[in-house]
Amino acid sequence: MIENWFSERYSDNLQLSFRIKDQLLSVKTDFQRIDLFDTYDFGKLLTIDGTVQLTDRDEFVYHEMITMVPYYFTKKKPEKALIIGGGDGGAAKTLLGLGFKRIVNVEIDSQVVEVSKRFFPELSSAFDDPKVELIIGDGIKYAKTSDEKFDVVIIDSTDPVGPAEGLFNKEFYKGVKNLISDRGVVVSQSGSPFYQPNALKLAYSGMKEVFDDVRVYTAFIPTYPSGFWSFTMASSGTLSPRNEEVKSMQYFNGEVLEGSFKLPQFVRELLKKT
Ligand code: SAM
Repeated sequence: MIENWFSERYSDNLQLSFRIKDQLLSVKTDFQRIDLFDTYDFGKLLTIDGTVQLTDRDEFVYHEMITMVPYYFTKKKPEKALIIGGGDGGAAKTLLGLGFKRIVNVEIDSQVVEVSKRFFPELSSAFDDPKVELIIGDGIKYAKTSDEKFDVVIIDSTDPVGPAEGLFNKEFYKGVKNLISDRGVVVSQSGSPFYQPNALKLAYSGMKEVFDDVRVYTAFIPTYPSGFWSFTMASSGTLSPRNEEVKSMQYFNGEVLEGSFKLPQFVRELLKKT
């Protein structure tokens, strides 16, 4: 019997492979290549330029962790959010569940949104909500030119190559700082500390130059390289969680909110050297 597999290459010598039932789509856009697979173990899998973006089975971890943690770190209960990237709608959907009143989502590639509307309707339905404004455009430009203020800014981007390269530097974070309301926060996905220490170093050092307080937290995301993933969060003024009861989700809960900031020594060393 013939078996079909999709593999994400981590290096010349290592890859993660999913046995697939079918490839449902492959499209080359102005920005990147998007593929959609139906896998045996993880349901539908979306990849961009050969790297896993999300699967039906474990998207909840990433989307909860990139939204719920910053939610509890704003001074007052947050009401307005900006998402840069996030064309699948997963981050917007989780924010809607938290009661946000306005969400602006700036995604560079309209095709990611279209693919999500076809294959991840539960996530992309967020874009039908009148509280969500979807802008198809470059988040780097948006950060330079917008003057709206947000309580939470979420950088839900691809890794720092191609269109997302400029979302991991000081110039971009300076623009983001101007968009953050009093004691609001910014968070960025910052890659696997094990396989992509450079992404974490870029996010951490870039934010350190612009913000007063920068903290890194991690989560277990089975289909991302090494399964061990980092997020980097910053604010002007000290970061501390609001004193309120923490909602339990599928991955996130009060213990995770606290524990995700406890970093293994090799990650601490990496940050110290940065
Ligand atoms: N969960 C994902 C991960 O960490 O692998 C990220 C998912 S989301 C699909 C990433 C999105 O960022 C992509 O749709 C990509 O088009 C978008 N993106 C990349 N660079 C961007 C930019 N400069 N402005 C706005 N969106 C951008």
